[in-house]
Amino acid sequence: MADRIVDGRRRSDNLILDTALRDFYGAADEMHLDEGLISILSYPERRVDVSVPVEMEDGHVKVFKGYRVQHSTALGPSKGGIRYSADVTGADCEGLAMLMTWKCSLGGIPYGGGKGGICCDPTALTMREKERMSRTFGARIAPIIGRWNDVPAPDMYTGGQEMVWIMDTICKMVGHFEPAMLTGKPVDYWGAKGRTEATGRGLATCGLELMKLKGLDPSKMKIAVQGFGNVGSYTALLLKQAGATIVAISDTTGTYYNPNGINVEKAFEYLDRDAKKRGRKLSGFEKEGCEKLDSVNDALFVDCDFLFPCAVQGVINENSANKVKAKYVIEGANSPTTPEGEIILNDAGKIVVPDFLANAGGVIGSYFEWAQNLQGFSWTEEDYNKRLVSLMAENFNKVWAYAMDKKVTMRRSAYIAAIKRVSDIVALRGVYL
Ligand code: NAD
Repeated sequence: MADRIVDGRRRSDNLILDTALRDFYGAADEMHLDEGLISILSYPERRVDVSVPVEMEDGHVKVFKGYRVQHSTALGPSKGGIRYSADVTGADCEGLAMLMTWKCSLGGIPYGGGKGGICCDPTALTMREKERMSRTFGARIAPIIGRWNDVPAPDMYTGGQEMVWIMDTICKMVGHFEPAMLTGKPVDYWGAKGRTEATGRGLATCGLELMKLKGLDPSKMKIAVQGFGNVGSYTALLLKQAGATIVAISDTTGTYYNPNGINVEKAFEYLDRDAKKRGRKLSGFEKEGCEKLDSVNDALFVDCDFLFPCAVQGVINENSANKVKAKYVIEGANSPTTPEGEIILNDAGKIVVPDFLANAGGVIGSYFEWAQNLQGFSWTEEDYNKRLVSLMAENFNKVWAYAMDKKVTMRRSAYIAAIKRVSDIVALRGVYL
């Protein structure tokens, strides 16, 4: 797919990259950003395409395409996941790396944005094929990643195991141990205690800060959570522990509704039952005093004060946004609200806390893992959680204050704050690097 230049601005035929560029240009124009800075930040600093030959189980060799993109290292090493997906492209990684630049900047952490991936069907690979693929990919991107230049992490269809394969390969190549070269490692192997709950903890913090600002008592608040995976389940649990009533949760098996309150701890037991056989699912949870609603999307439309969409992108759109009853929508998933959906929510006077502010607990938690690895010293889980909550609350309040002051949406305010931090440092450092 080719790039085009329209009115001096970069346009891509790739949906993810083009959306990222349009959002960037919209905010950049509103803040009257210098055209030179706009041009610099329209492109990644570096993109490396690699081939990844893998000897398959039947002995034949298959070559996969791999990518690593560093959009910006203005604030520090680039940071972002590595995904295994059948349709990932280099242009996708460019767009996603740009979003990571804004997320890290807004998160108040010393990172730029990166992203990478291998174009493959991970579900069709055996463990040994996946291991060979991860190790070869690691070796091929080794010259550009590292604790002070680019720190990858898990993303779609990758996790602690893939990170360990990549790290182990590069450690053997360079002949010394390098735990801070990537994050998302297993807790027992240089990972961080607290990471599992980090994204949910960040979302719950945004919810509680918003309640504080609006003078709302958490114990009187009704909450609905769409998606009961890593993000949604801990968001629901932590808000319940803060006194709120969780009225609906959902996953691919359906929506479970109880206006008097869902037993969230019990729902965790359902996830863990037979998890190996049937995946971590809520099926059967209606037996716990809930009504099972017809559709997985019904969680979006129940009567509640706060809605946390924590499942997939695009669920609040031009067809569904007018059915949302919650006054406050806090985005846990990436891009759960389409631009058309957001206009409807805004017109109805609802407040949307944007994804790259609300779900930044994950990347902030990765920063904490990196910091511990550099120190060679593990923090307690309590330390980790305290620092996470304090940083998330600070970021939330900064975006809120700007939005109120300038009378713009929280998404626009978040973009402006994020772009300003990066562009100020690019201007300070100068063009020549
Ligand atoms: P996950 O796979 O653990 O959970 C996803 C959940 O959503 C599952 O319960 C699944 O059954 C459910 N689901 C899928 N489609 C649904 C639908 N249409 N309606 C209702 N439920 C549905 O994933 P996760 O790690 O919790 O991530 C959720 C979202 O948050 C993704 O968009 C992800 O990119 C984003 N995110 C995750 C993190 C993180 O740290 N895990 C950080 C930032 C953003």
